[in-house]
Amino acid sequence: MKPALNILQSVFGYNDFRPLQQTIVERLIAGHDALVLMPTGGGKSLCYQVPALARDGCGIVISPLIALMQDQVDALCELGVKAAYLNSTLEPGIAQGIEQALLRGELDMLYIAPERLVQARTLALLERARIALFAIDEAHCVSQWGHDFRADYLQLSLLHQRFPAVPRIALTATADARTRAEIVSRLNLESAEKYIAGFDRPNIRYRITLKSTPRQQLLGFLRAEHRHDAGIVYCLSRKKVEETAAWLQQEGFNALPYHAGLPATLRATHQSRFLREEAVIMVATIAFGMGIDKPDVRFVAHLDLPKTIEAYYQETGRAGRDGLPANAWMVYGLQDVLKLRQMMESSEGSADHKRAEQQRLNAMLGLCEITTCRRQALLNYFGDELPEPCGNCDTCLEPVPTWDGTEAARMALSATYRTGQRFGVNHLIDVLRGVENDKILQSDHHCLPTFGVGKKLDKTQWNSVFRQLVARGYLNADLERFGALRLQDKCRALLRGEESLELRLDIARKAQRQQTRQA
Ligand code: ADP
Ligand code: ZN
Repeated sequence: MKPALNILQSVFGYNDFRPLQQTIVERLIAGHDALVLMPTGGGKSLCYQVPALARDGCGIVISPLIALMQDQVDALCELGVKAAYLNSTLEPGIAQGIEQALLRGELDMLYIAPERLVQARTLALLERARIALFAIDEAHCVSQWGHDFRADYLQLSLLHQRFPAVPRIALTATADARTRAEIVSRLNLESAEKYIAGFDRPNIRYRITLKSTPRQQLLGFLRAEHRHDAGIVYCLSRKKVEETAAWLQQEGFNALPYHAGLPATLRATHQSRFLREEAVIMVATIAFGMGIDKPDVRFVAHLDLPKTIEAYYQETGRAGRDGLPANAWMVYGLQDVLKLRQMMESSEGSADHKRAEQQRLNAMLGLCEITTCRRQALLNYFGDELPEPCGNCDTCLEPVPTWDGTEAARMALSATYRTGQRFGVNHLIDVLRGVENDKILQSDHHCLPTFGVGKKLDKTQWNSVFRQLVARGYLNADLERFGALRLQDKCRALLRGEESLELRLDIARKAQRQQTRQA
């Protein structure tokens, strides 16, 4: 068996592993299971390709992206790896040849589409072959809450049952805690080691401000910092994309609109102008960006709140690929939240799905409201860690006005604890505010010492308190239990009175003003 580093150098032509790759590769070669979370471009492929070559037998790679399979296999063949794929696009004769090659032990790596893998005859074939490992790529497809759900992925748990001795590695770039938990339970990866890293983009400066006069705010930002730079301005609606692009043009910027409603030829023209010309600002919906690899995008601005932290991370991640300083700038307002909530509410999909969407939105909102380092919170969301505040986000650079939320936080945590960590935020707020509704009375929560202790704050303020507690890792939403909040270890110091907590002030105030206006 060739050592891993030797394979990396002789086959792939790289000098060194990236830090986490090495550990993953070694553990997999030793026969352990792994769950790997790395952003796109993080270097996931080598995590299974090297062990597939190092171990005896053929590495089976399960990938839902049939369109990419051929490219991946071609690239491996270029390197002298004996790779092939099996999917529905192949002629039966060719597929048969590949199956024979597998049985004769002539393949290093075989890519298989999930729907093919779970067929009885494919499984029977694999049982007759020597298998080095199973790599389950895009593992988040197993999550029924996500957008990429694939029913075939659910059946992949049979790999564990039918091939208990073969190590498995599941990989994904997008997985919040909920999805992660789902991957683990659905693929029987309870004993797998988890590796999460590489999410930090240190050259991107994260800045999030409350929306007041969005156009003027954007203009101020562009004039002060990006007069002659390429960048992307994201808006929620097509109409707003067009209006914003036209207005930026009037203001002297080279701005172009991009959304799925424009004719394909126009979209292509705008895209290629963005790629080729200098200092073009693309004003776009989220339809723009997939697969765009422009290294010198100096800023990504959001005029509307993304629906999830994953989306925010993906979209802002298009800035500064060259490693030079770049800005991720956003304005957001409560109106955005209401609009998104409404869209989610009226969308198709089950009640559970909607609830999951709301929770993701709340997490995004938590990131907006946080008063501590945004990068730490962002990385924390992905399970990645940053030991010290980054010094390169707005909250690090300019401390935000806060209020002493220690007592409110303790009340919130106490209400969570005393109700058995089985309830979501709305019920907890009702407890704190002393609302005598059916649910409260049925569960005797009106008898709790925390009942009604929080009347001083209104519902919106409590929402903000809870969101910030979630955002900072004091509370976690239970994935299996409809967002029931649970205390995290971090709470102890706060509950014991050893720690105080500063909460962001601006939101509570603004919300209050809006409420008085509505009343
Ligand atoms: P992912 O699948 O996570 O999106 P890839 O596996 O496609 O990422 O890798 C992204 C890029 O990083 C590729 O161009 C790959 O060749 C490169 N890369 C990965 N690992 C290393 C390494 N150890 N040394 C140098 N380049 C690497
Ligand atoms: Zn920071």
